[in-house]
Amino acid sequence: MGSHLQELLLIGGDLVPAASGLQADLVDPATGEIWAAVAAGGVEDIDRAVQVADQARASWRKVNSHDRTRILLNLANLIRAQGEALAQLESRNVGKPIREAREEVGLAADCFEYYAGAINKIGGQTIPVAAAGISMTLREPVGVCGLIAPWNFPIAITAWKVAPALAMGNTIVLKPASQTPLTALRLGELALQAGVPAGVFNVIPGVGNVAGAALASHPLVRKVSFTGSTEIGSAVMKLAAEDIKRITLELGGKSANLVFVDADLDKAVLKALWSVLGNAGQDCCARSRLLLERPLYEEFLYRLSHEFKKLKIGLPLQEETEIGALISLAHRDRVQHYIELGKQEGATLVCGGMIPSQDEFRGGAFLQPTLFADVDPNMKIAQEEIFGPVLCAIPFDTEEEAIAIANQSLYGLSGSIWTRDMGRALRVARAIETGVLSINTGHSVHLEAPFGGVKRSGLGRELGLAVLDHYSELKSIFIAE
Ligand code: NAD
Ligand code: MN
Repeated sequence: MGSHLQELLLIGGDLVPAASGLQADLVDPATGEIWAAVAAGGVEDIDRAVQVADQARASWRKVNSHDRTRILLNLANLIRAQGEALAQLESRNVGKPIREAREEVGLAADCFEYYAGAINKIGGQTIPVAAAGISMTLREPVGVCGLIAPWNFPIAITAWKVAPALAMGNTIVLKPASQTPLTALRLGELALQAGVPAGVFNVIPGVGNVAGAALASHPLVRKVSFTGSTEIGSAVMKLAAEDIKRITLELGGKSANLVFVDADLDKAVLKALWSVLGNAGQDCCARSRLLLERPLYEEFLYRLSHEFKKLKIGLPLQEETEIGALISLAHRDRVQHYIELGKQEGATLVCGGMIPSQDEFRGGAFLQPTLFADVDPNMKIAQEEIFGPVLCAIPFDTEEEAIAIANQSLYGLSGSIWTRDMGRALRVARAIETGVLSINTGHSVHLEAPFGGVKRSGLGRELGLAVLDHYSELKSIFIAE
């Protein structure tokens, strides 16, 4: 891997500098070293990219459904062929373990395959209206889509947006998170190689409140798809409101993991750990509140803290690493602030909470996985999204109490239930206010199933066939007899 990358913007099939000439440095989260400089797109660049995407609409619509399928399959194949290089780039950029990065690159390829397959299977209807004739619906592209991505799973979440947008015939301006623009740019270049016409897929790295805001408010953008924090999501929704843009939002979470006494404890302990510590806890779906039925509370925490202490913190590119670096020192400061707050609020720090002292971690944004017990549901550490390797354990006595605690949140993204009693599992699953939920596992994101939040966790759904509604308009046509 080159020691100092120089990256540009991708507009209309060309790699170009920002109009302002400005660049932003990328800092390696694991070392603190500057390792890349990326053109910083501004208002002018977003405007150019949106104009180009608007003009490219005709060229993409002309590509028939069979060819569009083939092009997206080409792209999936190119992602797989470049898989290791992409995974290394992502691992270094985000500070995440290389094994997790490889999985995410694989998921991105799967995503293009899935939506490639949907292209010639999803259409409109004929409807038995009262009037004499035929009413039918056509599914048409929305137009230029402004896609705004976060830094935690850059290539996977970008694929979740780009693949269905292209499948439905839209054109794109993608604004990756300022910290993680690298795989987004590679994806844009691979799309050109795969046969996506120039101008259909543009990539503008840049600062959120400049490039992101310009994209969300550009009058030629018809749809905004945003993944990020609830606070910024709300701001983006206001910007999009001006022109009645279509909008979908995937936002923060504070999901609950409910463990009942009859659970399979061996499985539940390990999954409780990985459903919060994957990606060092920087996961919107993190089950960061662990609700334990009182009789198993002590034993569960004992076994869990044992597993926490065994985790291998390490440099992201090392194969055996389980916990990499956080995205930045500034973000680690924020997480540490919550750890201090938890202690002040009276929670019991069971393990972790410190910066690892080994020399190899000097300069990087590493942090020990942290387990709090005796957390009260009203504490800030139980209410606010920490977005780091911090788990808060809360005891409960009854099913009703568990449901009430789970729902005592402004968020509603994911969650898990552990019990062998399927009646209870279903009852509790229905009662929890959340968009996705898993029973007897820690993981509920599937490419083929709708994903998204309720309450302040978001609006609309990604993945599955459900997302295609958000990337198409239904046109009704009536033909009189
Ligand atoms: P963020 O809100 O800080 O940034 C998200 C994106 O918005 C970035 O590209 C950023 O540059 C851009 N942005 C920032 N200010 C903007 C503005 N004023 N106008 C337009 N765009 C702007 O989020 P983050 O720190 O990148 O990611 C972490 C957050 O994302 C967490 O809250 C996490 O829960 C959430 N997230 C949600 C999901 C989900 O699917 N629900 C997935 C991943 C992350
Ligand atoms: Mn942020």
